[in-house]
Amino acid sequence: MDADVAIVGGGPVGLSLAVELGWRGIDCVVLEARARSSPRFPTANHISVRTMEQLRRLGLSEQVAAVFPAQWGGDWVGITHLGGFEVARIADALSTPTPRPDSPEREVWAPKLYFDPILERAARSYRCVELRYESHVEWVEERADGVTCAVRDRTGAEGRIRARYVVACDGADSRVREALGVSLFGPPPPPVAVNSVFFRSRRATEKVPKGGVLYSLLGSPDGPTKTRVGAGMLVAVDARELWRIHGPGLDAADARVTRQRLRELGADDAEILMQSAWTPRQGICESLRRGRCFLAGDAAHLVTPFGGLGVNLGIADAFDLGWKIDATLAGWGGAKLLDESYESERRAAILDHLLYQGLDLRGATPRQFRPGLPLHEIPDERLWRDDEHGEAARREFGEALVLSRGNEFDKPGLDLGFRYDGSPIVCGDGSAAPDRSDVRRYAPTARPGGRAPHVATRGGGSTLDLFGRGLVLLRTDPGTDTARFEAAAAARSVPLRVETVPEAAEAYAAPLAVVRPDGFVAWRGAGVPADPAAVLDVVRGA
Ligand SMILES: Cc1cc2nc3c(=O)[nH]c(=O)nc-3n(C[C@H](O)[C@H](O)[C@H](O)COP(=O)(O)OP(=O)(O)OC[C@H]3O[C@@H](n4cnc5c(N)ncnc54)[C@H](O)[C@@H]3O)c2cc1C
Repeated sequence: MDADVAIVGGGPVGLSLAVELGWRGIDCVVLEARARSSPRFPTANHISVRTMEQLRRLGLSEQVAAVFPAQWGGDWVGITHLGGFEVARIADALSTPTPRPDSPEREVWAPKLYFDPILERAARSYRCVELRYESHVEWVEERADGVTCAVRDRTGAEGRIRARYVVACDGADSRVREALGVSLFGPPPPPVAVNSVFFRSRRATEKVPKGGVLYSLLGSPDGPTKTRVGAGMLVAVDARELWRIHGPGLDAADARVTRQRLRELGADDAEILMQSAWTPRQGICESLRRGRCFLAGDAAHLVTPFGGLGVNLGIADAFDLGWKIDATLAGWGGAKLLDESYESERRAAILDHLLYQGLDLRGATPRQFRPGLPLHEIPDERLWRDDEHGEAARREFGEALVLSRGNEFDKPGLDLGFRYDGSPIVCGDGSAAPDRSDVRRYAPTARPGGRAPHVATRGGGSTLDLFGRGLVLLRTDPGTDTARFEAAAAARSVPLRVETVPEAAEAYAAPLAVVRPDGFVAWRGAGVPADPAAVLDVVRGA
């Protein structure tokens, strides 16, 4: 066996899994088709508060938070064009200056260009992790005790890598998914691709109103006549001179057309660095697992950029899978951990996220219900007039835009509130399910199946800092005797650590709770149960 785990694809999801497994001391190899130095198109930017909480555990959240200068701001801003008028603004929409009251972390703006290398350096720092670039996986084949990957290197030579498990993190057009014969289902993709351009322009930086990281452009300086559908989204990549834009009038296949368009929009010094044409798709795999092979990230599901879900959803797959592989290899994890719970838990979360984007795949028929941005409703050329009529039009349109659009990133009920209620490794406690009808609301709860709440601990830490290795039996009542629980765990070689945190009594609403390594509550009780071994067997998937 060459490694315990072969990770196919070194994008953000594959690298997150490599860091997670490295942190757990598990031998793994990342097989990445790209050359290490090859440029990456800057796609994902928004790192959710939940992803930051997991990165905190791995010691990476501070680095990620420092990627983008906090003093720049994190607003969404609607503008007519570069150097034009500001029409609408949602403050701190994509990155908040301080943590939420219910988390030790905050959501941040961390463009892929800088985010991925942080993960890569972290993965490299573990001796048990090997990163192999220019290693294109051609096919995989499962055997009784492991999986063989056929890998073609830069010279064209084909070699074999054998691993106990393979995790396909090879993106939207996953080769592994295809080799496994797993289909991805969802509505047909839109007929027209979106052109996206990564460019350098000091002029753009000077011309945008300050404080924004995401700018909706409404039209060209000479009014909306050139396009009536909005001129695109402008994304800050480095707060100095790097930008990404997608929208109409750009042509990934013709730099002259793109340059002309950028000039029209006001970025007349633009230097095009990379272009790409991509089709926003939505969907989920029929299965997230085939035997010893697992699918994660874009290989397993596709979402549109709405709400910045893609990378966060994929990284959550990696963090769900990491500890389960660890527990299985260590021998205390039961068969259901990998055979059933990954599929069940992540499928529920993915479907929840797709629903947020207006796609209901829970039933048989996909149903769109969330209206898109009303950019086609850009009213008239009054928006571009530099007089009181223009001002009134901009105010009116801006208010309508904010109202209809809302803040697509304001969704703690999804980011922090997604739940694993139907999981085979969660012991329900019969308490009422939290109201999840409004994603803008999140009320922390220690009801099993959800994220274990953050409580500031004496000494300035967080309860979240207690979780990660093995199971934690969180005791909020120091008087509760946990000896029988500990004995049951020891008899099964389950790593169970008792942590006594009286200050968490209110938030956890019980004297005892079992928290999994990924920070989800698996069980909660008023005292040690009559049969603690039975509880542990459920939680370890026996
Ligand atoms: C234009 C655009 C804008 C986006 N904006 C956002 C956003 O704002 N927020 C957000 O969260 N998400 C956004 N996304 C989505 C986000 O980029 C993806 O969800 C995320 O990159 C998925 O990560 P991944 O690691 O699963 O896949 P990828 O990032 O696609 O990485 C897959 C890796 O696998 C490698 N690979 C592929 N095939 C093989 C093979 N056979 N063998 C070995 N290696 C292989 C590839 O080279 C690649 O490095 C955007 C996407 C696009 C296209």
